[in-house]
Amino acid sequence: VHYSEGQWIDYVRGLADQALATEMQAHLHLNCTACQALVASLSMVEATSSRDRALSVPSEVISRAMAIFRPEPRPSFLDLPRRVAELLFDSSQQPLLAGARSADQQVRHMVFQSRVFRADLQVELLSPKRMMVLTGQLSTQTSEAVIAEGVRVALTDGNLTLAEAQANEFGEFELECRFQMGLQLVAWSPQGPEAVVMDLDATSAIRKT
Ligand SMILES: [Zn+2]
Repeated sequence: VHYSEGQWIDYVRGLADQALATEMQAHLHLNCTACQALVASLSMVEATSSRDRALSVPSEVISRAMAIFRPEPRPSFLDLPRRVAELLFDSSQQPLLAGARSADQQVRHMVFQSRVFRADLQVELLSPKRMMVLTGQLSTQTSEAVIAEGVRVALTDGNLTLAEAQANEFGEFELECRFQMGLQLVAWSPQGPEAVVMDLDATSAIRKT
């Protein structure tokens, strides 16, 4: 009478009933080559898996490994309904102060207000390369969590995303792209519910000197 593989697995792992284990050991000593071969291979498997069980893997290693297989979704503003923010202030609409602007550097200050947050923007045009640097801060009166959860911002021409970043814990961000007409700043939280669109051409383009 041979023993089943399941019984041998219990035997190898030391889980077999004491009386049965004694009988099985006697069976092996009868030189049953089939069972001896089975026990030999099961012992190897058990040795390997007990080593694996003994290894303690740091939790951050596990979550990093999981992330490889389940990459965190990075929702695009294209997936969200879009709402246009109201322009509250635009320095390009203010009377120019003599000497306030230098010839090769212009800064435009804009403030937008939406249901979700207020955006305070500095738009700087670097004339020689026609590069635009947009620094801004998003603030909210209702829920600080909106910023804490990582609001994303992007510059778009309406079709293409030209630059994208994530606001820091203070809601601050910086974006850079080649200046052109029709630029929009879009801000959205990965949790939704909507993407806020700020039209940088809202009143007039950055003045050229
Ligand atoms: Zn046997």
